[in-house]
Amino acid sequence: MNFDSYTDLGMEAAAELVNRLTPGFDRGHPHPLPTAPLPRREKAASAEAAIWGAAGTISGADAESFFSLAQELREVFQSAADGDVERVAPLVNDLLRRYHAAPQLARHDGEGWHLHFHSQEKEAGRARARGATCAIALAIVIGSGGVGRLGVCRADRCDRVFVDTSRNGSRRFCSSSCLSRQKVAAFRTRKQNKMAGGSPLPIPGGTSTVPTFGVEMADPATPWRAG
Ligand SMILES: [Zn+2]
Ligand SMILES: [Zn+2]
Repeated sequence: MNFDSYTDLGMEAAAELVNRLTPGFDRGHPHPLPTAPLPRREKAASAEAAIWGAAGTISGADAESFFSLAQELREVFQSAADGDVERVAPLVNDLLRRYHAAPQLARHDGEGWHLHFHSQEKEAGRARARGATCAIALAIVIGSGGVGRLGVCRADRCDRVFVDTSRNGSRRFCSSSCLSRQKVAAFRTRKQNKMAGGSPLPIPGGTSTVPTFGVEMADPATPWRAG
């Protein structure tokens, strides 16, 4: 599933901004944010440069605006991933308003008419303009039935977000690294369950006919003890 290239870019930018500028876990590792002002400015500037190719320093106020924008975008991805569609639309409408989104049809360089994702306030700061771009892309995707395309990684110790462009919309992980981490974890769980006396485990409160072969069953609250 592909939207037009401007929408794709806006969606990828939104996901990248969340992944770079919100704290949490990234593919099994903690993803903390810097706390001191200078590193925060550098972090925001490097995210902007990586996503939009902008170069140069940004003000402390702009840096903080980028961090809040990223957090607001995370809420959209999280609500969408939770299936809370009724919350997603008002969140995006709120972003469109607050970032003064003003999409405009434009024609230049021999291209046909196409939509530019602008903010009304070009001078209001870089985060404002970037926020408008992301909000318009999200609005287009969600308004075309694409809310299910926004995801948060389901792997352990990861909460990075993604835009699912797979044909059947079945993506669950942020990266191939999380996909394989989760496969390994699932394999270990199956193996441990087998070693613990085979499945099915005794039904709580019922009588099981499954022999345990002398394996002491663990407390039901902790069905598996490592060792
Ligand atoms: Zn253009
Ligand atoms: Zn992940």
